[in-house]
Amino acid sequence: MLSADDRKEEIISLIREGKYLDAIDQLLTIVSLEDDKTYREWWNYRTRGEINLAAKAYQYDEEYFQDMLLSGYTKELPECRTNLDGGPEAEVEPEIADADFAIDSWIFKLDRLDNCSGMCSGSTRTITIEPGRAADEDALNVTLLHEMIHAYEYMLPEIFRQYVAVSLFQKLEPLIPNLMDLINADIQSEVREHSVLFMLKALDLDLRLNKPPGTVHSA
Ligand SMILES: [Zn+2]
Repeated sequence: MLSADDRKEEIISLIREGKYLDAIDQLLTIVSLEDDKTYREWWNYRTRGEINLAAKAYQYDEEYFQDMLLSGYTKELPECRTNLDGGPEAEVEPEIADADFAIDSWIFKLDRLDNCSGMCSGSTRTITIEPGRAADEDALNVTLLHEMIHAYEYMLPEIFRQYVAVSLFQKLEPLIPNLMDLINADIQSEVREHSVLFMLKALDLDLRLNKPPGTVHSA
């Protein structure tokens, strides 16, 4: 196997030769090897608190996030196979179930954060929670759920993000009479950090956890 330095040399010479796609392949290999290394390091040196945090995330994945993995829609999805114009059946994307789309490939850290209680970094697949949050179990849970919505949003391809948003809207509309007002207010607010999909999923979690609306969104 090539060393990291050999790989970098190889990339430079591929670029010099104008073999850009081969260079991208090599670059992606380096990124993926670095990701594996970071994950392994985290796994080997996890604190007791981080083991518990990750275990909680895996449990939430099963209990609350299956509708963001499309497995919650397997009954509905086959209908998508018929074209809108009633024409011949179109191919649908295969169900997303590979390793790139699983919360157990994420890193869960308890680490000092400035000015926020939680952070989700999609590019490094890392959720970080401020350790002070761990003292209050309820606050920790809500912060973790908030950051997990960001994580699933990051993992979902755009076309499915819209599908999940529509499905959540359909589910929540009868349960939250002023749902559209809440969305309108959020869209028009000056500080918008979250998407409509995020807002819908946060409201869904509030309902399922018997929390006042807005709890998960503002965590
Ligand atoms: Zn957020």
